Amino acid sequence: MGLVSTPATVLKTYEYSETSKILRLLTRDHGLCSAIAKGARRPRSRFGGLLEPFSDGVATFYVKEGRELHTLSGFELRRERQALGRELVRYAGAGLLTEIALRFASSEPDRELFEQLGRSLDRLVAQNGAVETAVLEETWRLIVRLGFAPALDPCSGCGRSPAPDETTHFDLVGGGIICDGCRRESAALSLKALAPRARTELALLVAGAADATVLETIRFQRNLLRDFIAYHLADHRPLNSFHFLEQRLG
Ligand SMILES: [Zn+2]
Repeated sequence: MGLVSTPATVLKTYEYSETSKILRLLTRDHGLCSAIAKGARRPRSRFGGLLEPFSDGVATFYVKEGRELHTLSGFELRRERQALGRELVRYAGAGLLTEIALRFASSEPDRELFEQLGRSLDRLVAQNGAVETAVLEETWRLIVRLGFAPALDPCSGCGRSPAPDETTHFDLVGGGIICDGCRRESAALSLKALAPRARTELALLVAGAADATVLETIRFQRNLLRDFIAYHLADHRPLNSFHFLEQRLG
């Protein structure tokens, strides 16, 4: 394929040898890629400080058929997003988004996924108040985009839509809600009670409609998201970045 140029977001960097860095990139045209930036750790490298996590730019690299690690020849910075580093909740949220993308994006190009991640990171930079709501909402947006949307209506047992004031249960394994009647007959073990307010706020988050709402059930929402990710996306283990986020939030 030879030399290619594509818009790209730096998800993660690793030091490699004394002088180089390996980058994990989400690119618009080539999906998830790894590239080595030779000499990037030298003081006078042409890459300078460009290759930091959450940065956007146009990456140019040599693609060799059958090789997983490409050689970066240039990176034209478009957006650095270093402001994320000035506040730990924003930084932790951006780390959560990039960790999920790193694990679940594929090498197939997905332009919408690439653009969505960029918009989510921009939102975390710019969000004015309700930062934790924004982190939870953008994380759900990414999960939905990756194909793991939870089913919040109707009940996955009987197919009935619950009344607005009805307490239901969230079935972590099934990835959806179940009503109280079905819960009594079901053998599902990983249920969390979902009070009406919690169900309403979860629906806002999953639909991307929470905006800057200060959620009454924010701690519940955070725990539910953590457990959902652990069940569905991370082999039953919480993600490192989620742990980091929880520590920042206390
Ligand atoms: Zn039911």
